[in-house]
Amino acid sequence: MCGIVGYIGKSNNALKILIDGLKSLEYRGYDSSGIAYVFHDDIKIIKEKGKVSELEKDLDFSEKINSGIAHTRWATHGVPSKLNAHPHRCEKITLVHNGIIENYAELKNELEKKYKFKSETDTEVIAVLLNDIYKEKNDIFSSIVELKKRLKGSYALAIMCSDSLDKIYAIRKDSPLIIAENKEGTFLASDVPAIIKYTKKYYLLLEDEIAVLSCDNVKFYNDSKEEIKKELITFEGSSNDAEKEGYSHFMLKEINEEKSIIKKFAARYKTIEDLLKDYEDISSYDKIDIVACGSAYHVGVIAKYLIEEYVKTPVSVEIASEYRYKNNFLTNKSLAIFISQSGETADTLASLRKVKEEKVKTLSIVNVVGSSIARESDMVIYTKAGPEIAVATTKAFIAQLLVITYMTLVLGYRKELIDSCYINKILKEIHSLDISKIIDKDYTKVAEILKDKKSIFYLGRNIDYAIALEGSLKLKEISYIHSEAYASGELKHGTISLIEKNTPVISVLTKDAIVEKTISNIKEVKARGAFNIVVSPIECDFADLVINIPKVSDILMPIVAVIPLQLIAFETAKKKGCDIDKPRNLAKSVTVE
Ligand code: GLU
Repeated sequence: MCGIVGYIGKSNNALKILIDGLKSLEYRGYDSSGIAYVFHDDIKIIKEKGKVSELEKDLDFSEKINSGIAHTRWATHGVPSKLNAHPHRCEKITLVHNGIIENYAELKNELEKKYKFKSETDTEVIAVLLNDIYKEKNDIFSSIVELKKRLKGSYALAIMCSDSLDKIYAIRKDSPLIIAENKEGTFLASDVPAIIKYTKKYYLLLEDEIAVLSCDNVKFYNDSKEEIKKELITFEGSSNDAEKEGYSHFMLKEINEEKSIIKKFAARYKTIEDLLKDYEDISSYDKIDIVACGSAYHVGVIAKYLIEEYVKTPVSVEIASEYRYKNNFLTNKSLAIFISQSGETADTLASLRKVKEEKVKTLSIVNVVGSSIARESDMVIYTKAGPEIAVATTKAFIAQLLVITYMTLVLGYRKELIDSCYINKILKEIHSLDISKIIDKDYTKVAEILKDKKSIFYLGRNIDYAIALEGSLKLKEISYIHSEAYASGELKHGTISLIEKNTPVISVLTKDAIVEKTISNIKEVKARGAFNIVVSPIECDFADLVINIPKVSDILMPIVAVIPLQLIAFETAKKKGCDIDKPRNLAKSVTVE
C-alpha cells in the first residue's frame, strides 16, 4: 500500500521523474498524493487530495529540479485529505511513509508537549520525532538510527533533511523499498514499475540497513555506519509491463497476458524431470496449512480441493489475518504454505514469521522476486507473472493456479498416487491449452444483465465453489455490486430467502462427479425466480444463459473456468463506468495489517 518514489541526480527533470513514478505506483494507493523537492536551497511541498493527476496540475514542470521525494497515499490514520497527504514536515525533517506506526499515539502524547501537530496521521509523528531527535544529536544518520529504535510497527521511509539537501535517506521495516542508480542519478521506490524506464537493476533495501542516496551514488550502511556491499538484482520483465500497450485498461491487458503465462509455464515444464527440479520434495509432511489473503486465499481453497483429492493429504486453508492470532496445532510433520502476489502482504508475512518461530517448515508462492515472504521462507516458488498493475488480480491468480496444479502433480507423483502417464497427459494438455477463445468471447450481454442489480449470487460445489469465491470477489472489487459466493448445497440453509424474481445466480459447473448435485441446486433457485447464468463445458438447457468453456481435465478446470468470471466482472464494471484499474478504497500489495 502507498507508493513512494525518490530521485536525486543530474537530471533537472526530477518533477517529471517523480510524477511518472507515482503514476506507475498508483495501484498501491490513490486517495491523495504529494511531493517534496529541493527548491532554492529549501524544501517545497505540494499536496493534493485525489489521484496523482490532481497533483500533477499543481506542478510547474519548467522548474529545474534535481531532487525530491513523492508519495501516493492509501490512508490508514486520518481521512484522505490534503492535510493528511504526505510528505509531512517538521522543521528540518520532511518525509514520506508507507506503513503503520503502532505506538504513534503514545509518541504523539509525549511530543505534543513540545510540538503542534497539523494532521491526523501516524506519519507526522515520525517527522516530529525525528526532528526532535535531530535537534539533540545534530547528526541525521545517528538520529535515524535512534528513530528506528523508537518506532513500533511497519514503515518504508524516504527522508530529507534541510541541513543535507544533497542526500535522501531511506529505511524500512515490513514495507518494501528498492533502490536503483544509473548515470543520471539515484532512485528509490516502493516497486519496480517506478524505475523500470531508467534501469532494470536495483537493490533491495533490507530491514537492518540505511540507504543514503546522493547525486552520483547510493551507499548502504548498518546502524554502526559501516558500509554494506550489496548485490544488484535484475528485473526480468520488460518496461512494457508497466504500459497499457493499446489496451483500454491494465486489467484487460493482464487478462490477455494469461495466454503467454500459460505458454511460459508449458515451455518450462515439458517433462516430470523438469517439475522435479523446480518443486522441492514436500511429501514427508502429513498436514499442510495454506495461509493467504484475498484472491490468494481462493487459490489456497482450490489447492486444498486438489491436494486432498489427488494426494490424500489433509489441508487447512487459513485467512492470514486470523491465522496469526490463533492456535494452529502445527507439528514437525506440518508444512505451512504462504501465497502472496507481492510477497509483502503484511498479515501473510506476520503469519510466516509466527510459524517460523515454531520451527515449522515454510514454503511460499510469490510473484515478486526477493520480496520479504520469499526471502524469509525455507522454500520459494516464483509465479513469474510479471508486474501486475490493475488492483484486482487476474494474471497473477492464473500463475498461482498453475503453480498449485504442478505442485499437486509432483506431490502425488512423489507419494506414488499419481503416475507419470497422467502427469505427461496433463503437461501436454497445458501445452495445447488455448484460452484465446474464452478471452475473446462477448461478455457484454451478461454485463448488461448484471450492471443494475443490487445483489448477485455465485454457486459451486467442491472446487467449483472455490472458483465461485474468486468470481464473486472480482465482481465486488471492481463493479461495487454486492455478491456472495455459496457452496451450492448451503444456500438453502438460510440465504435462499434472498433469491427473488430475476436475482442473477452465476453457477460454476465443471466437476463431472458432482454435476448432477449442483444442477439440482440451480433448479432450486430457478424455482424461486432466479436468473441462472452457468459457466460450464456441458450442455445446460436448464440455464437462462450459458457461458460455454472448453472441456479439459478436471485438474485444469479452475484455470479455464475462472477466466470468464474475470471478464464478466470487467465488462460489468466497464458498463457501470467504474474506475476498473483503481477501484475505490482498495490498493494492491496490502502492506498494513
Ligand atoms: N499510515 C500512513 C497514513 O495513513 C501511511 C499510509 C500509507 O501507507 O499510504 O498516512
